[in-house]
Amino acid sequence: MERLLTLNNGVTMPALGLGVFQSPPEETAAAVEAALATGYRHIDTAAAYQNEREVGEGIRRSGIDRSDIFVETKVWVTDYGYTETLHAFEKSSRKLGVDTIDLLILHQPMPQHFDRTREAYRALEQLLADGRARAIGVSNFMPRHLDALLERAETVPAINQVELHPYFTQPTVQAADSHHGILTQAWSPIGGITFYPGWGEDRKNVLQDPTIGQIAGAHEKTPAQVMLRWHLQQGRSAIPKSTNPSRIAENFDIFDIFDFALSGDELARIDSLDLGRRCGPDPDKRDPSLANVVIPEP
Ligand code: NDP
Repeated sequence: MERLLTLNNGVTMPALGLGVFQSPPEETAAAVEAALATGYRHIDTAAAYQNEREVGEGIRRSGIDRSDIFVETKVWVTDYGYTETLHAFEKSSRKLGVDTIDLLILHQPMPQHFDRTREAYRALEQLLADGRARAIGVSNFMPRHLDALLERAETVPAINQVELHPYFTQPTVQAADSHHGILTQAWSPIGGITFYPGWGEDRKNVLQDPTIGQIAGAHEKTPAQVMLRWHLQQGRSAIPKSTNPSRIAENFDIFDIFDFALSGDELARIDSLDLGRRCGPDPDKRDPSLANVVIPEP
């Protein structure tokens, strides 16, 4: 299991990063600072999360060299299009307070406006060529979206960030990603989407799954640590979110293989929990309310 993953253009990325979706702006800088103090060197944010400024503040407050931190952010759909996406880079880089973004990705495909998705990706290719982004990629792309993108794109995306936890393992997406040489990165890696408050009461919380609990008990680890180890041992990147310093530390305490490694049988038992049903939005269905989210100028 590697702490650092090498992307398809040779750039290295820490496998485990801190996610900040739904981290309130007033708590984000402290969470980023706590994560960096714990040893994290990778932060995943997005223009749409409205906390890039605070991510940048946390990075600066940490005192750690910018070049030692891997910053990933996402372009929102209302900024798709060639010139619009070039401008989206400027907005994000100014809010983050960085000249270069380590990994810049499209937040989701716009299947109904795929030409704009393609133009947005062409802008990412330009930013990569100009050295403004060190790697580029996509998020929530199903194999058909990847195929459509790759018909014209010159650069194979470095990563595809998708919903992925034990209840939704997306084997077809993982196979398509690896076929193209794209790294799969798990969002909701410990199943946040299965228990976000207010997102529907009929959800089954993967943190409370008995199989995961049993494996965790056997290793004297927590369910979250078991899921993160499962991702990393299978070669994926994972970006668990927390604003709580002790959970931030818990989620990072998974690397000592003498202390903790899942067996092949345990990995297979976790794989078998897949229910084949997404909890998050369907990338082929457009939620009109999201199309109204305008990313403000810095
Ligand atoms: P996660 O699977 O990371 O779960 C986060 C939730 O789990 C929070 O409620 C957090 O609460 C809680 N939590 C964190 N650590 C623990 C722990 N050790 N034990 C128990 N509970 C814990 O879900 P997310 O959906 O946030 O996904 C992670 C990241 O992925 C996001 O932050 C974002 O960066 C990215 N993402 C990307 C999407 C996309 O469309 N590309 C969509 C969704 C997420 P607390 O903060 O109180 O600890």
